[in-house]
Amino acid sequence: MSAIGIDLGTTNSCVACVEGGNPEVIVNAEGERTTPSVVAFTKDGERLVGTVAQRQTAMNPARTISSVKRQMGTDWRKDIDGKSYSPQEISAMILRKLRRDAERFQGQDVKDAVITVPAYFNDMQRNATKDAGTIAGLNVLRIINEPTAAALAYGLDHGDPQMVMVYDLGGGTFDVSIIEIGDGVIEVLSTAGNNHLGGDDFDERLAKHLIDAFQRTSGIDIAHDAMARERILEAAEAAKRELSSAESTVVSLPYLAQGPAGPVHLEQTVTRAEFDRLTHDLVDSTTDAVNQALNDAGIAASELGAVLLVGGSTRIPAVQEHVQRLTGKRPSSSINPDECVAQGAAIQAATLAGARSGCTDLMPRGGELLLLDVIPISFAIETVGGVATRVIERNTTLPVHYEQIFTTAAPFQTKVEINVMQGERPMAADNKTIGKFTLKGIKRAPAGTPQINVSFDIDANGILTVRAQDLGTGNEQSITITDSERMTDSEIQDAIRDAERYEEEDNARRASMEERNDAERLVAEAQEKLKAHGKEMEKDDKRRLKASVANVQRYLAKRPEKMKDAERANFSNAITELKSLL
Ligand code: AMP
Repeated sequence: MSAIGIDLGTTNSCVACVEGGNPEVIVNAEGERTTPSVVAFTKDGERLVGTVAQRQTAMNPARTISSVKRQMGTDWRKDIDGKSYSPQEISAMILRKLRRDAERFQGQDVKDAVITVPAYFNDMQRNATKDAGTIAGLNVLRIINEPTAAALAYGLDHGDPQMVMVYDLGGGTFDVSIIEIGDGVIEVLSTAGNNHLGGDDFDERLAKHLIDAFQRTSGIDIAHDAMARERILEAAEAAKRELSSAESTVVSLPYLAQGPAGPVHLEQTVTRAEFDRLTHDLVDSTTDAVNQALNDAGIAASELGAVLLVGGSTRIPAVQEHVQRLTGKRPSSSINPDECVAQGAAIQAATLAGARSGCTDLMPRGGELLLLDVIPISFAIETVGGVATRVIERNTTLPVHYEQIFTTAAPFQTKVEINVMQGERPMAADNKTIGKFTLKGIKRAPAGTPQINVSFDIDANGILTVRAQDLGTGNEQSITITDSERMTDSEIQDAIRDAERYEEEDNARRASMEERNDAERLVAEAQEKLKAHGKEMEKDDKRRLKASVANVQRYLAKRPEKMKDAERANFSNAITELKSLL
């Protein structure tokens, strides 16, 4: 059973699920990728949802409900045939249809869902949305913010930390949010907008223009003819969509009205320039909200990492140009503005549903809690001198494969111990060992010669397999570590806190350890050289090299934590000198 993501919109809704690792929009029973958020009750008591409900609006306005999202969390009621319906119940009818469409698409029952709401929705509105889901028979895993979902769809959950603007202009609402992304958390910093601005207003402007033009040419005023008006509005909406890609379009409505000489038709060409002129103040009116959102978030437009467009009306070229002018940034065109919110919700739903079946459960601090399949804490292996060498950084997204070649530290070493750890500290002793194994049978060779390939694989369920292979002999050894052996949430939090607290101290210790390792390697190299080529070397060179080795060894014999600053400096000089002689 696959979890779904639902964008329960004011004008249109959309449902998606993750299939084969990708968020897929579910095509509804009518063959459309979005479903109008319209519910109607026919005279004979049938309930209609979606396009069929929308189509009969003009004939049945009193029993047709659209934009019920605006009423969520209020005591609004709709009385139909003696029954009083709450906004939750009407929304549940839309959700139930989306659920059925998803079931048909998946060929199985669907229960788990993530539903999105505008970032500005308060607790009551969010609870009402959740209740609507429950009434529709859904198990609502989480309610998430629409801009957050858009960011998830855009794939911003595993990039660098950044500030992003989500500019969402739908059918009846406009909102702009500034969100901060980083560390597996997406946080809405500010939101502003206008609850009564959207594509419908653009339709109205164009419809009025057509009605006026019709009156000028035919002398007939159809402003008060409900049926003709509805036809004009529909045609205006279609023309508006066409003008998003074409420079001009023809609106053609045969038999629009009855004149003294018989039926009168409307045929009118509209250019994009004309449309832009009719609607430019609507586009301009989004400026204040953009500035306010930036102000409230305390950032300048230049600090934005990306601008995402959401909502069907952002397909209007003049809107896109306006956003670019305001932010100085080209809006991202890689996501579909009508579908990305549902897709992001589907990604979150899949992750949440997956988490219950054993995925890594990341609960970051603050912000909107997102559950991403990421590694909450770094993986490392212990290398010479007790240093923890990071192999996979914290917050890397699953699944992940990593490999690195290591070598031996001592001459003729025939085995190595692989100590697998989790933690953020640079020294092995300060991290938690989660597994250990020994790779034996390494071919005898001088230090630094064998090549040992160590690979880490963490699958989507968080199961880690570490393999070590001696490339010289092909000998291989591995272990598998499951989630339960890994660190618990509180251990993780402690580790992160410790890492911050001890950062400076740790770095100094690591630098000192690395220096010692360097020194040991140089000493071994010098001894090799003396053994192999000692006879051919100039007497003076040989003496200098031997003295330098002895000098370095003298410092190596001391305990690093007991060394004074001056001694440390002399040790560094001794190493530099030895290096110069090799
Ligand atoms: P939404 O609420 O996001 O589904 O947005 C719906 C609004 O987007 C409606 O007003 C549509 O007319 C409008 N819309 C959809 N496609 C386009 C398009 N290609 N060009 C302009 N507006 C569009």
